[in-house]
Amino acid sequence: MTGHFAALDGLGFPPFEPGTVWLVGAGPGAPGLISLLGYYALGQADVIVYDALVSETLLALAPPSAERVYAGKRGGKPSEKQADISLKLVEWAQKGKRVLRLKGGDPMVFGRGAEEAGALVARGIPFRIVPGITAGIGGLAYAGIPATMRDTNQSVLFLTGHDETGNLPSALDWAAVAKAAPVIVMYMAVRHLGSIADKLMAGGRDPADRLAVVTNATLPGQMVVEATLGTVAEIEHLLVTPAIVVLGPVSAQRQDFDWWVGSLRENGLG
Ligand code: SAH
Repeated sequence: MTGHFAALDGLGFPPFEPGTVWLVGAGPGAPGLISLLGYYALGQADVIVYDALVSETLLALAPPSAERVYAGKRGGKPSEKQADISLKLVEWAQKGKRVLRLKGGDPMVFGRGAEEAGALVARGIPFRIVPGITAGIGGLAYAGIPATMRDTNQSVLFLTGHDETGNLPSALDWAAVAKAAPVIVMYMAVRHLGSIADKLMAGGRDPADRLAVVTNATLPGQMVVEATLGTVAEIEHLLVTPAIVVLGPVSAQRQDFDWWVGSLRENGLG
């Protein structure tokens, strides 16, 4: 194994220059789902600013000397803290640190990575974006649910179930969303799931449409709860967070594709 990983060094990773910020996606939870570039960045960073959903196992891969800073916020808290985080990234970079901003899933998917990148651009801080596996795709895969299938859906719609105030996103045209795609993947949607279901049905979505909720996706405690759009009220009490909700025919594939079971779940990396 060691020899195999040593071979990576020969590939020539891009240098993590002092005074730069890398916005890195950690993947949906299981530490094995980070990219090679992300893994490399962990080994080089001087400061790691990480979110609530980032695995301890990943953080432990960084050198003991790396400063670890928790920047967690869950469930649509005020955005003042976001400005603080962006400012801190700038300050550390200006001090000549290699700053690793480690975010759950993909940094640019419902993760405010764009706001942070914007703050860096505004101050002329060089940065790199290292994509990650987003929960809305990787989380489904661990539940045996394909995001697309040729026979059922040629499009997927991603949405967030709450905005920065914690309310149902007011900018969403729910009637249009209801008809836009056979498969709708919802982030941060547990709190308002009942209202979301009502809005989609009011927009013409079939109450018999299948719905699956994958909680703690890719983590040992992953749980999948299935219902239909019309029976969401019956499962709400079972739901914990973080959870990804998928609406549409693809969840039927779980019957055949539910591969991540039994002893497979005991592997520490995924
Ligand atoms: N940037 C992240 C999303 C951040 S928003 C990404 O690309 O995945 C946080 C939301 O992501 C959670 O409310 C939940 O909807 C989803 N999520 C993140 N990790 C998850 C996990 N392990 N299991 C289920 N949902 C998850």
